[in-house]
Amino acid sequence: MTQDPATGSAEPGPPAAAPGRRARALCLCSGGLDSLLCLCVLRDQGVEAEAVSFVSPFYADPAPTARTCAELGFKFRTVDFTDDILALLRDPPSGFGSCLNPCIDCHARMIARAFAIAQEEGYDFVATGEVLGQRPMSQQRGPMNRVRNLSGAGDRLLRPLSAKLMEPTAPEKEGLLDRERLLALQGRNRKPQMELAKKYGIRHYPSPAGGCKLTEPNYCRRLKDLMDHEGLGDARLLQACNHGRHFRFPGGTLVVLGRDKADNEFLRTALRGGDATFRPVNVPGPTALAVRPAADDVPAVRRLVAAYSDTKGVDEVAVRELFAASKPAESRVPPSSRDEFAPYLL
Ligand code: SF4
Repeated sequence: MTQDPATGSAEPGPPAAAPGRRARALCLCSGGLDSLLCLCVLRDQGVEAEAVSFVSPFYADPAPTARTCAELGFKFRTVDFTDDILALLRDPPSGFGSCLNPCIDCHARMIARAFAIAQEEGYDFVATGEVLGQRPMSQQRGPMNRVRNLSGAGDRLLRPLSAKLMEPTAPEKEGLLDRERLLALQGRNRKPQMELAKKYGIRHYPSPAGGCKLTEPNYCRRLKDLMDHEGLGDARLLQACNHGRHFRFPGGTLVVLGRDKADNEFLRTALRGGDATFRPVNVPGPTALAVRPAADDVPAVRRLVAAYSDTKGVDEVAVRELFAASKPAESRVPPSSRDEFAPYLL
């Protein structure tokens, strides 16, 4: 298949199907019910449907989706989407949704990547589980058309769950698909999808719209702060957005304070040149990672660790600090109130 850059629509690629030829489709699969139904509906009419999931630090772990696809008998692959989504976070041509979610461009780019694979590997079309009118913004007809045009997939993009409400696509016109056996789902009612899930034996799937951190306000506050200060180029700081409490101190230092054992372990391994970790050694308490700490902020980081430590029965907290590539040092800090740090909490 080749692309007409002027119209954004795909020029006819493969010839019309020979009778009996099995169509091949690459389906974007988030693991949500609609994307699983997309695969099932296509297989139902003999299409060789395979799943592709996009992976980035902001999306849900694809392992459960891989398991569900395996249970249902679909081939599954992942594609690393990190560079794509980072570029869109820096410059989203169509803007952000309610948080830091560049949904229109993100979706279009995913379809474009899937379409490129489809062209390279001889699939007939790409498909998504979108349902017309299901979401207030991204799944209205206008944005869905915009995504199709931006992606470059043109009429080789099929939305099988709402296909009968849309213009016929190339695989339908070529006789690879029976339009009558595609669906006409529309709107927010999930009942038809639940019934289809029963029909196809789909038992495990996440709730709709779950899994993308770029739609979570708390997460996005941290990410926005990171974008504005350290930038998005450091993978471990992106990962750190998933851990602990985040503070931006007056001297500009980013401090990540563990909430539990897993956070503390992550923060200790995240130490890099110029950074420092702080943790109490005479009482239970959290580890703090200070990213390239300003000298003026260091005493406050010690007090922060003391404030979040279990100080019952002690007059002082022994805080051990470790600057990367240096010997650890210890300071004695009196217990202090967490209120001091509330203005710096992200
Ligand atoms: S919710 Fe997240 S993964 Fe989905 S289109 Fe929007 S930004 Fe991309």
